[in-house]
Amino acid sequence: MKPISEFYSFLAAEKKKIIITTHQKPDGDAMGSSLGLYHFLISLGHEVVVISPTNWASFLDWMPGVKNVLDFEQNTEKAKNLIAAADWLFCLDFNILHRTKNMEKVLQEMNAVKILIDHHQQPQTEVFNFGNSNIQKSCTCEMVYDLIVESGHSNKISIDTATCLYTGVMTDTGSFRFPSTKPSVHRMVAHLMELGLVHSVIHDNIYDNFLENRLRFTGNALLNRMDVLYEYNTAIMVIPKQDILKYEIKTGDTEGLVNYLLTIKGIKLAAIVIDRDEERKWSFRSKGNFDVNIFARQHFEGGGHVNAAGGRSGDNLEKTVKKFYQVIKQYEKQLQ
Ligand code: 5GP
Ligand code: MN
Repeated sequence: MKPISEFYSFLAAEKKKIIITTHQKPDGDAMGSSLGLYHFLISLGHEVVVISPTNWASFLDWMPGVKNVLDFEQNTEKAKNLIAAADWLFCLDFNILHRTKNMEKVLQEMNAVKILIDHHQQPQTEVFNFGNSNIQKSCTCEMVYDLIVESGHSNKISIDTATCLYTGVMTDTGSFRFPSTKPSVHRMVAHLMELGLVHSVIHDNIYDNFLENRLRFTGNALLNRMDVLYEYNTAIMVIPKQDILKYEIKTGDTEGLVNYLLTIKGIKLAAIVIDRDEERKWSFRSKGNFDVNIFARQHFEGGGHVNAAGGRSGDNLEKTVKKFYQVIKQYEKQLQ
């Protein structure tokens, strides 16, 4: 993988057919960076399509350009044809092809020049021709902003681009509170605001736009589904299928739930597992130097960042939870 700076001179040289993709169940940063880049590349005259491996949370449906995003599961044939004809493929906010679920094989076999922009650990570098993989960055949106500015195209940042990029930086930094929020993040936001960005509306669209059932689900989860293991400074929440059905929980409704666990004084590790149809999906968060990326990789087929990672299990809920209680014993010292 060559540095992305070596790709800058191609950006505005010739019109290309471009696919942008991201990880399955895209979050604010995945969708924000994809659509931010989409608006920018269109402004350079390219033919651009964003393909998401799966559906996404409805709280992203207001985003500029989201109506043109193809859901690979819903439009497989059309998406495959577009992928086959593409000159360039941008992979955003993930770094291992299997995070694109059913798209993995199609992406592996395509001929396009592949460009990675991502801030997770341990990238599959052999897959990409050019890339920027930087775990110091707050979010992929910040890296798309860097690409636009460093390649000399600051004048192409439209309100739509700014809106999409702000969405990802706001969600991935926990509204600017995580340690990854460096001065460069605030400088970028200041620049976007000078261009006319209305940040408060974006916050409302993302965080104050839910249905009643989600709040009741959250209340029930906090009251009845949480276990605190003080001897390990760990809190865990186990969400059974019956809760998902009862409260009509949809994609994205459980996002952020794991963060409540970290609000308990002294808690260093927070874990939540949700019984989904196809798998048991884990989310891990930590405070300090407990590395949940390594933890998720070693025990739950996952990965991510030092303080935020995810994983999965093919076992049933009871079995995967039991495994967590077993595994955590090895970490007693580290979690003290
Ligand atoms: P979340 O818990 O919000 O789903 O994910 C936390 C972080 O871990 C995100 O940066 C996400 O991209 C990453 N992540 C989530 N699930 C997985 C997984 O199964 N594998 C890997 N490698 N990363 C994941
Ligand atoms: Mn991200």
